[in-house]
Amino acid sequence: MKETEKLTEEAKREIDKCYCPYSQFHVVAILKATDGKKFTGVNIENGSFGLTICAERVAFFKALSEGKRKFSEIFIYSPDNMPYPCGACRQVMSEFCSSEFKIIVATKGKTEQMNLGEILPFSFNFKNT
Ligand code: ZN
Repeated sequence: MKETEKLTEEAKREIDKCYCPYSQFHVVAILKATDGKKFTGVNIENGSFGLTICAERVAFFKALSEGKRKFSEIFIYSPDNMPYPCGACRQVMSEFCSSEFKIIVATKGKTEQMNLGEILPFSFNFKNT
Protein backbone atom coordinates (compact mmCIF):
# COMPACT_ATOMS: atom_id res chain seq x y z
CA MET A 1 0.00 0.00 0.00
CA LYS A 2 1.35 3.41 -0.94
CA GLU A 3 2.20 5.91 1.81
CA THR A 4 -0.62 8.28 0.78
CA GLU A 5 -3.12 5.41 0.88
CA LYS A 6 -1.97 4.53 4.40
CA LEU A 7 -2.30 8.16 5.47
CA THR A 8 -5.77 8.34 3.90
CA GLU A 9 -6.88 5.29 5.88
CA GLU A 10 -5.41 6.80 9.04
CA ALA A 11 -7.20 10.11 8.36
CA LYS A 12 -10.54 8.38 7.70
CA ARG A 13 -10.40 6.87 11.19
CA GLU A 14 -10.26 10.42 12.60
CA ILE A 15 -13.13 11.96 10.58
CA ASP A 16 -15.71 11.50 13.35
CA LYS A 17 -13.61 13.73 15.59
CA CYS A 18 -14.17 16.74 13.31
CA TYR A 19 -16.54 19.33 14.76
CA CYS A 20 -18.05 21.04 11.71
CA PRO A 21 -21.82 21.44 12.23
CA TYR A 22 -21.91 24.70 10.24
CA SER A 23 -19.90 23.95 7.10
CA GLN A 24 -20.16 20.14 7.07
CA PHE A 25 -16.64 20.28 5.61
CA HIS A 26 -14.62 17.62 7.43
CA VAL A 27 -10.83 17.98 7.47
CA VAL A 28 -8.14 15.85 9.08
CA ALA A 29 -4.47 16.85 9.03
CA ILE A 30 -1.58 14.55 9.86
CA LEU A 31 1.63 16.48 10.51
CA LYS A 32 4.95 14.67 10.47
CA ALA A 33 7.88 15.98 12.50
CA THR A 34 11.39 15.38 11.19
CA ASP A 35 11.90 12.74 13.90
CA GLY A 36 9.00 10.78 12.39
CA LYS A 37 6.45 11.48 15.11
CA LYS A 38 2.96 12.24 13.80
CA PHE A 39 0.43 14.74 15.13
CA THR A 40 -3.20 14.62 14.05
CA GLY A 41 -5.61 17.53 13.97
CA VAL A 42 -9.25 17.95 12.99
CA ASN A 43 -11.17 21.12 12.22
CA ILE A 44 -13.11 22.58 15.14
CA GLU A 45 -15.81 25.13 14.29
CA ASN A 46 -17.53 27.58 16.59
CA GLY A 47 -20.87 29.39 16.47
CA SER A 48 -18.81 32.56 16.63
CA PHE A 49 -17.26 31.74 13.25
CA GLY A 50 -14.04 33.68 13.71
CA LEU A 51 -13.06 31.31 16.51
CA THR A 52 -13.07 28.28 14.22
CA ILE A 53 -9.70 26.59 13.85
CA CYS A 54 -8.51 24.48 10.96
CA ALA A 55 -7.23 20.92 11.25
CA GLU A 56 -3.77 21.99 10.07
CA ARG A 57 -3.31 24.51 12.87
CA VAL A 58 -4.64 22.07 15.48
CA ALA A 59 -2.00 19.57 14.33
CA PHE A 60 0.74 22.22 14.37
CA PHE A 61 -0.22 23.58 17.78
CA LYS A 62 -0.39 20.09 19.29
CA ALA A 63 3.12 19.40 18.01
CA LEU A 64 4.50 22.81 18.96
CA SER A 65 3.11 22.57 22.47
CA GLU A 66 5.00 19.30 22.87
CA GLY A 67 8.22 21.04 21.90
CA LYS A 68 8.49 20.00 18.24
CA ARG A 69 9.85 22.66 15.91
CA LYS A 70 10.96 20.80 12.78
CA PHE A 71 8.51 19.26 10.35
CA SER A 72 8.86 17.38 7.10
CA GLU A 73 5.33 17.16 5.71
CA ILE A 74 1.63 17.49 6.31
CA PHE A 75 -1.10 15.28 4.86
CA ILE A 76 -4.52 16.91 4.67
CA TYR A 77 -7.61 14.83 3.94
CA SER A 78 -11.29 15.58 3.46
CA PRO A 79 -14.05 13.27 2.26
CA ASP A 80 -15.97 16.37 1.09
CA ASN A 81 -13.72 18.35 -1.25
CA MET A 82 -10.03 19.04 -1.93
CA PRO A 83 -8.77 20.54 1.35
CA TYR A 84 -6.19 23.07 0.24
CA PRO A 85 -4.84 24.86 3.31
CA CYS A 86 -6.24 28.35 3.93
CA GLY A 87 -4.08 31.46 4.01
CA ALA A 88 -3.86 31.54 7.80
CA CYS A 89 -2.59 27.96 7.94
CA ARG A 90 -0.05 28.64 5.19
CA GLN A 91 1.29 31.55 7.23
CA VAL A 92 1.54 29.39 10.38
CA MET A 93 3.40 26.74 8.36
CA SER A 94 5.84 29.37 7.08
CA GLU A 95 6.83 30.27 10.64
CA PHE A 96 8.25 26.79 11.22
CA CYS A 97 8.82 25.25 7.80
CA SER A 98 11.03 25.98 4.81
CA SER A 99 9.68 26.58 1.32
CA GLU A 100 10.45 22.89 0.65
CA PHE A 101 7.94 21.69 3.28
CA LYS A 102 5.80 19.03 1.61
CA ILE A 103 2.02 19.39 1.55
CA ILE A 104 -0.18 16.54 0.34
CA VAL A 105 -3.91 17.11 -0.06
CA ALA A 106 -6.37 14.29 -0.68
CA THR A 107 -10.06 13.71 -1.30
CA LYS A 108 -12.19 11.02 -2.91
CA GLY A 109 -9.28 9.01 -4.32
CA LYS A 110 -7.43 12.08 -5.66
CA THR A 111 -4.18 13.38 -4.22
CA GLU A 112 -2.04 16.39 -5.05
CA GLN A 113 1.40 17.23 -3.76
CA MET A 114 2.99 20.65 -3.50
CA ASN A 115 5.46 22.48 -1.34
CA LEU A 116 4.97 25.52 0.83
CA GLY A 117 7.00 27.81 -1.42
CA GLU A 118 4.66 27.11 -4.32
CA ILE A 119 1.47 27.95 -2.44
CA LEU A 120 2.83 30.81 -0.32
CA PRO A 121 5.43 32.73 -2.31
CA PHE A 122 6.77 35.99 -0.85
CA SER A 123 5.59 34.99 2.63
CA PHE A 124 5.95 37.38 5.52
CA ASN A 125 8.61 36.50 8.04
CA PHE A 126 11.48 38.20 9.79
CA LYS A 127 14.00 35.86 8.17
CA ASN A 128 13.47 37.51 4.75
CA THR A 129 14.24 41.05 5.92
ZN1 ZN B 1 -6.63 26.87 7.67
